[in-house]
Amino acid sequence: MTSKQQAALEQAAAEPGRFFGTELLGWYRSVKRDLPWRANRDPYRVWVSEIMLQQTRVDTVIPYYNRFMDKFPTIRNLAEAPEEEVLKCWEGLGYYSRARNLQAGAQQVVRDYGGTVPDDKTAVAALKGVGPYTAGAIMSIAFNRPEPAVDGNVMRVLSRYFCLEDDIAKPSVRAGIERIAAALIPDGAAGDFNQGIMELGALVCTPKSPGCLICPVMAQCAGRLAGRELELPVKTKAKPPRPELRLAALVEGAGPHAGAVLVRQRPESGLLARMWELPHVLAPGGGSAGPAAAGAAAAAGPVRGRRRSAAALGTPAAAGEASAIAGADREARMAHMGRALAEEARLLIRPRRWWRDAEHVFSHIRWDLQVYLADFGFVLEDAAPAGGAQAGVYTGLAAEQPAAYMAGGAFGSEGEAAQRETAASLDHAGLHGLPAPEDRLPEGYRWIRQEDMKEMAFPNVFLRLLNDYWEQRGSGSLAEEAE
Ligand code: SF4
Repeated sequence: MTSKQQAALEQAAAEPGRFFGTELLGWYRSVKRDLPWRANRDPYRVWVSEIMLQQTRVDTVIPYYNRFMDKFPTIRNLAEAPEEEVLKCWEGLGYYSRARNLQAGAQQVVRDYGGTVPDDKTAVAALKGVGPYTAGAIMSIAFNRPEPAVDGNVMRVLSRYFCLEDDIAKPSVRAGIERIAAALIPDGAAGDFNQGIMELGALVCTPKSPGCLICPVMAQCAGRLAGRELELPVKTKAKPPRPELRLAALVEGAGPHAGAVLVRQRPESGLLARMWELPHVLAPGGGSAGPAAAGAAAAAGPVRGRRRSAAALGTPAAAGEASAIAGADREARMAHMGRALAEEARLLIRPRRWWRDAEHVFSHIRWDLQVYLADFGFVLEDAAPAGGAQAGVYTGLAAEQPAAYMAGGAFGSEGEAAQRETAASLDHAGLHGLPAPEDRLPEGYRWIRQEDMKEMAFPNVFLRLLNDYWEQRGSGSLAEEAE
């Protein structure tokens, strides 16, 4: 603990009249917002709300919270639900490991404590996905135990109130602030105190424009008295997420699959485990955004699906040049995507044209997605792996034989002749692997229509893309865009 923190701790413990706690409690009890998780002190409700509120704004959480509690009103309901249903209910909130951990924690409570959250900090802190902050919040709000619950909001408020200049990104500083927060808790009012300090951070002592003039603790706020409220807290910036350029295929079905698109399920573990997505691959060169990618991105338009105007690129000549670079880049990337999917999944597609860009930000990585509309060809039977040069030949054939794609893919009756022709070409080329039987898809892949999405969980970016796609198809603007 630094000397400043030590002084703050002593001040917190001996504060005359317990100014901070008394003023904060009075203020909180008179202004507190009517939020759904404050309806009672049920530890399960507190737990769900605290997990949802991590990294997410209150306004965003409210409808999700209400839906979640309707669907899983008890710990047992949540523990016994299929994971897909839990993820579906969480869809759009992001950070999906929170949902998986919450369900795993609920299963622990059912298995080890008969379905009742224990009134014991060590036991609560041992539940899956429950860190020191969430444990403190559950213990104080649900059980009124004098445990601190220190998140970014609380560190900001206390750094300012005590004029602490230590870097709150450091674990040791956080630990020191936890001790200070614990010393400030008024007797018998831990739940309201912790909620009060969070509320103060959310409504008054906000990051960029603290409302000191309406703050209940302004009279003794050292940061405010020193005129330093805008400089505090001190926090070193986290490393920005690493950008990764990925090429996604929006493969449109034809023949019996007309109106459907091809999606795949992510692996059992790791990033976005078991969620559904469009097939996508890393762009050549590992996907890092180099100068070519930057040129293409500039001309392609910004992320989140809106086109950038030519005027924004400068002169018409500059716009034309950038557009030509982007066009060449896209051709190369479409070819790469076709080869990579043939290699990875033995899936032959024919990318047709760029559709839009999108972005998905994780804590450590940022996916810059370029999405291409594509036609479905066929899936190759297992034989020799379709790697390297073979994949190149496959996709070369795919490009040369558009009839197989245009006429409903290899599965359409009109495409059968083209399929046979392509198979013969593959044989002729000395390649093993024939088009797989009708309706055979690579493992984890499936055709879906819009209504199927009700049962499937997608990460935000793919949810947005697919919803936009169905909307554009419905309005006819997708076809117009192509003209
Ligand atoms: S007086 Fe200002 S800086 Fe101090 S706690 Fe209140 S809002 Fe924050």
